Amino acid sequence: MKANDKQLIYTLLKTVDAYECGYTRAKFAGEPLFTDDTVVECERSERIETTVATSNNGSSPVVSIQPSAYSTTGQASADANMSQNSGISLDELNAKVLRCTRCGLARTRNNVVPGMGVEHPDVLVIGEGPGHDEDMQGLPFVGKAGVLLDRMLAAIGLDRKTNCYIANIVKCRPPENRNPFPDEQAACFSFLEAQIHILKPKIILCMGKIAIEKLMNQNIAITQAHGEFFDYNGIPVMPTYHPSALLRNEELKRPAWEDLKKFKRRLDEIKTN
Ligand code: SF4
Repeated sequence: MKANDKQLIYTLLKTVDAYECGYTRAKFAGEPLFTDDTVVECERSERIETTVATSNNGSSPVVSIQPSAYSTTGQASADANMSQNSGISLDELNAKVLRCTRCGLARTRNNVVPGMGVEHPDVLVIGEGPGHDEDMQGLPFVGKAGVLLDRMLAAIGLDRKTNCYIANIVKCRPPENRNPFPDEQAACFSFLEAQIHILKPKIILCMGKIAIEKLMNQNIAITQAHGEFFDYNGIPVMPTYHPSALLRNEELKRPAWEDLKKFKRRLDEIKTN
């Protein structure tokens, strides 16, 4: 397949996705760059030519595969779509999330957990997905890990009732608290993108490996990346350890605290500039 065809399909899927979410997403730093499948096309062509030539004992002409005509409008459409903004509200978006059945997690959830917090937050906190307590209450980070998260946030002057919004990569609980599968993360991610688009947080705190990996669209070792800053469409992003990891391993609390202090300094800088 040619790069332009891939771009066209990608753009089409994004447009459908954006329509369903009610907004047009900004250009994402991790968007794929498509290339032609030159090698694959050649191999396939050669294999078919060989098969036909052999079956006809060389008496019939060899079948050749002609390149098809490709559209060149994909990138232009993508850029045009990205420049639009349909202005959906957070309530409207979360109402869509509550009705969502895009992935298999819809079959096992008790409640959808769109998110919780103020509409114009300084900080967006992103977790991985709801656990048992969150699933039962329909609210993010309300179990033991949630209590610890609230304490961590309070230690640096943050609170979900005044200056934070808390959301997850997936909005429905993965059974047995397993990690959300890649297809579940992919199905749900546009909701988080839309939330970021609407909330416009000054800074983002990612709790754990899955949150930062999905947001940045790359493999990231949390043991090395915690406390470092990444960039998501101009918004500083810091990963730190998930509160559940801190509950399992006390030794992680000290580095997590150092991360939070660094995060607070950066937030203060942003607010004073
Ligand atoms: Fe929809 Fe996300 Fe729930 Fe899957 S996890 S059903 S994509 S809201």
